[in-house]
Amino acid sequence: MIGLFVMTDQVKIQFLGTGAAVPSLRRGLPSLAILHDGGIILCDIGEGTQLNILRAGLPPSKIHTILISHLHGDHIFGLPGFLTSQQMMDRVNPLTIIGPPGIRQYYDHIRSIAGFDIQYPLYFKELTQEENNSMLVGPFQVTAKPLEHRTVCYGYRLSESPKAGKFNSQAAAALGIPEGSQRRDLQQGIPVQINGKLIKPEQVVGPPVPGRIIAYLTDTRPCVNALELARTATALIFDSTFSGDHAERAQQTFHSTSVQAAELARQAVAGQLLLWHISIRNGEEIEAAMLREARTIFPNTLMPADYETVEIFRPGQR
Ligand SMILES: [Zn+2]
Ligand SMILES: [Zn+2]
Repeated sequence: MIGLFVMTDQVKIQFLGTGAAVPSLRRGLPSLAILHDGGIILCDIGEGTQLNILRAGLPPSKIHTILISHLHGDHIFGLPGFLTSQQMMDRVNPLTIIGPPGIRQYYDHIRSIAGFDIQYPLYFKELTQEENNSMLVGPFQVTAKPLEHRTVCYGYRLSESPKAGKFNSQAAAALGIPEGSQRRDLQQGIPVQINGKLIKPEQVVGPPVPGRIIAYLTDTRPCVNALELARTATALIFDSTFSGDHAERAQQTFHSTSVQAAELARQAVAGQLLLWHISIRNGEEIEAAMLREARTIFPNTLMPADYETVEIFRPGQR
């Protein structure tokens, strides 16, 4: 078993398929899982994803939301198989699918042709071309904006709330604050009176810990919306279909190079860059060169393999 579920306040990205367009034995079609302590969010679901979920040891019933970037086959051909397998496994948990207009029609067509029925609660949310695509998904406030691809394609920014600072029991004891309700009030930001003296929360509670921001941006050219969604992201997952010397090809096909990904990460002041959507045409040697050239621009860069897990820490918590 490769993947493990996570502990309280832990967030991990489990890569399932890291390739592009056509699968290889090394890189499957695009899909990754964001593991948080309440469940799993899937980003895209290329063909073969349900097997990759099993190989990674993830519980499919814990997937509560699937974010779809766009309707190209390499990102959605795994959806019908996953949905029907979940039905056959007697799934009861609700599942929400968020994606561009047409995702619901895609499902309806396949369901009517293949003649299957889904009994568990299944919801679709189609995004609009307007800029106000914002919704709560698990512990994240999710914002979606259109990117620059050959078809309507959305990038996602998942932002987690800050966490309350650490309670300093020694300082509390020194100030004579008894265990119980007054300590709980202080933890919740409410001042208390002890022997006629006002105690403020900041005297015993550390500063709030910022939340993680994950930006999932594929398939796209570098563009203004991509930069906005990527701004100060803790982890930026970005289209790196081609190596740096194929910028023209990337431009023509509405994709990005590893160099453009690194430049965008630097501009956005991201914490970490994860190169994603790697074309099988590159091969292992070129992939190694892509990673090297990206690191010269943005040192904290990884090019995850299928089944690799990357833990994402709250800023300043490592
Ligand atoms: Zn693609
Ligand atoms: Zn595409």
